[in-house]
Amino acid sequence: MRKRVVAVLTAMAALSIGGPPRVRAENGPAPDWARLNSETLRHFQALVRLDTQNPPGNEYLVTDYVKSVLEKEGIPVQIFASDPKRPNLVARLKGNGKKPPLLYMGHSDVVTVDPKKWTFPPFSATRDGGYIYGRGSLDDRPHVVSGMMTLLTLKRLNVPLDRDVIFLVESGEEGTTEVGIGYMASQHADAIAAEYCIAEGGSTARIGGKVNYAAVEMTEKLPRRMELVATGPSGHASRPLQGNAVVHLAAAVAAVGRWRVPVRLNATTTEFFKRMADIMPAPESARYRALLDPGSAGAAAADSYLAENAPGYASMLRTSISPTMIEGGYRINVIPSEARATLDVRMLPDENPDQFLAAMTRVINDPAVVARYVNDAGALRPSGRPARIDSEAFAAIQSAASRNYDTVTIPMMGTGATDMAQVRAKGAECYGIGPAADVEDGPKGYGAHSDQERILESELYRFARFSYDIVNDLARAKAN
Ligand SMILES: [Zn+2]
Repeated sequence: MRKRVVAVLTAMAALSIGGPPRVRAENGPAPDWARLNSETLRHFQALVRLDTQNPPGNEYLVTDYVKSVLEKEGIPVQIFASDPKRPNLVARLKGNGKKPPLLYMGHSDVVTVDPKKWTFPPFSATRDGGYIYGRGSLDDRPHVVSGMMTLLTLKRLNVPLDRDVIFLVESGEEGTTEVGIGYMASQHADAIAAEYCIAEGGSTARIGGKVNYAAVEMTEKLPRRMELVATGPSGHASRPLQGNAVVHLAAAVAAVGRWRVPVRLNATTTEFFKRMADIMPAPESARYRALLDPGSAGAAAADSYLAENAPGYASMLRTSISPTMIEGGYRINVIPSEARATLDVRMLPDENPDQFLAAMTRVINDPAVVARYVNDAGALRPSGRPARIDSEAFAAIQSAASRNYDTVTIPMMGTGATDMAQVRAKGAECYGIGPAADVEDGPKGYGAHSDQERILESELYRFARFSYDIVNDLARAKAN
């Protein structure tokens, strides 16, 4: 509270001294946020109204829009497409080359909708009660509009840059990366080569209406599709067989489903639980501290608690397995000779797949069941180096989070997959950030991919500014 009063007084003093209040030496020229907010809203609603459900995508709707807005203000745009209806857009503001480029990305596709389930039509961008509703309002239009507004603002204010600022709007993020980031990374890597990248994947958590922390994604788990195949003799179902493939498969699925894969923390998750322990009240803080001492009785109890009550955190502790599909048999009186199950496996970034497969095979402990990896081109993500906590980029994010949200920054590992995987695999350090949302909103059905996806209008503006501050801090030319 006192800190705020002092800040306001300082700002007032600066104004009364005279001189151009729009220029702050420390942070470069100050944008006119009030004007930018209404412009951000206009573009955001226009973008939410574009139907880019994937499948089929039709992401050209978004790239056409962004292209025309940027080109109108003299920002050069390139389009790269393996499928003309699913292009990727790259815009670049040139710097003086003192530092390598910075990449800001947002994806242009959204997941599909069932319009019957929506209170407000999914592509209406309806404003109601301080929220904007629509598919993509959280995932991932905020990054698209914020990246666009950041480039426009840097350009209008003529901010001199020490590095190129690249803005990528990529298609196909929701399960068809071969037209989007996969295509860009394999065919046009030069166009997006950067030292740092900023993208979706982080989250800024509001609890009880107040921002509690800004979580930044430093690394993420690697999705792998696995299959269990049980084989056995077929026969007449009136004469039960010990080798029944369905029975063997069921036992194997239960065994891997209940398997508590050993906990392994890395630099990111260690720091995550440390910082969470500092800001959360007891008994959460005690649980997080216990996890930092693996092997202790407290750690095992905390692990069980998270498995039951906070599956997202439990998944950060280990390579995880979710059996999701099962098939076998074709009529009631035939014992089938084969049955199979599909497992959604999310590996720790440094997991050894061969050793993991061997361990799973021991857990199944049944020669009638084979576990194996299945290639899944659209979902496959390469592994890359986790982002550093002691980098210039993390410092810029921390300072922008403190300036805009008055909150701490917490490094975390994403349990899902993002397009940062491909960029990290090219050597960039990638940081996932996200707009602030009430943590209570998700379970109530207002989160990303839900039937009532929504964002707080005020948080959209704050996120655009947060994004601008990070990019400006990292790219603006600094004397020395
Ligand atoms: Zn997304």
